Amino acid sequence: MKVITPDYYPLFHCIASDCPDTCCAGWEVVVDPEAEKRYRALAGPLGERIRTSMGEDEGDCIFTPKEDGRCPFLNKHNLCDIQAALGEEGLCRTCHLYPRFINDFGGTREMGLSLSCPEAAQIILTTPSLPGFSEENHPEILPDLNDLDAGRYFAVKAVRDKVLSMTAEGDVDEALMLSLRLCRKADHRIQEDEPEKAEALCENFDPLHQLEKEKARSEKAKPLCAETVTGELMELLILRDSWRAKLEKASLPEAKIPPLDPGYERRIIQLLVFRYLLKAAYDGRLLARMKFILFSVLSLRILGQGLNQESLRTLTVNYSREVEHCEENMEKLLRKFEKGGHYTAKAFGAQLLP
Ligand code: SF4
Repeated sequence: MKVITPDYYPLFHCIASDCPDTCCAGWEVVVDPEAEKRYRALAGPLGERIRTSMGEDEGDCIFTPKEDGRCPFLNKHNLCDIQAALGEEGLCRTCHLYPRFINDFGGTREMGLSLSCPEAAQIILTTPSLPGFSEENHPEILPDLNDLDAGRYFAVKAVRDKVLSMTAEGDVDEALMLSLRLCRKADHRIQEDEPEKAEALCENFDPLHQLEKEKARSEKAKPLCAETVTGELMELLILRDSWRAKLEKASLPEAKIPPLDPGYERRIIQLLVFRYLLKAAYDGRLLARMKFILFSVLSLRILGQGLNQESLRTLTVNYSREVEHCEENMEKLLRKFEKGGHYTAKAFGAQLLP
């Protein structure tokens, strides 16, 4: 397969017991069937211990967290007992992979780092320039069977590339609204089963002209407000009490939500665009995914006011853990964005464009 990664990807190494947080608490670990088979056959006390900690959730084999939320194999030094005994190969796929993510598209595999790990977030948010992407051929990795529609893939990829280039420079708010406009138009053509028109749209997309149109469109709309965004976050599944307290204490600007450092916002936007937009090649939810990216930026702006860089990184890690890493939350948000409601493109435009 062809493997694509952002330039900072090889810089990541887990800092284990030096980690200011841990990825082994606060959520269930799903054990893949191959690891489950190995653990069920493992002899000795560790095998016994693993088997007694295995549970089931909606058909998935999981490690049931302890009452304090910690993984049953996380010891008092914040190290993993399974890894200590069996080495990295002994881990299940979730633990072996984290915080890396993998998205496969036919013969192309895209990999990146997740913002929910403090060490990965440090790398992503502090590398001096925006990442380029490296491509390598790995013939030993064979593609799985998949139902990817080639026409839709190339159309969504063209949109994603355009969004990556538009959000890499210039005014962040304008770039976000241009990206939303492009995704709205392309989404429509993809739903009409005309992916070639979506691809052509990217080639002829004139930012100045399109921005004027978008400004005119959202001029009289009711802006998406901070109260709606935090209210939405409060309605999601909340993993940690500290996150609930953060949401409850947030001070809400009445009108325009002030932006944060553009360099910080750009890095987050680029990562989310790289990670999520191309998934629309499978499910067609291009516009909803772009709205998720705008929603994330607004959420971080609201919650990040007045924070120094380090606290902002912690906020980003927590946002990623609470919102992005919970499938249930992501699905709930995407459905909301598909319905429109408070989250129309005009409402985003009225908030983001002067
Ligand atoms: S959160 Fe990241 S750095 Fe911390 S223990 Fe997990 S993988 Fe390692």
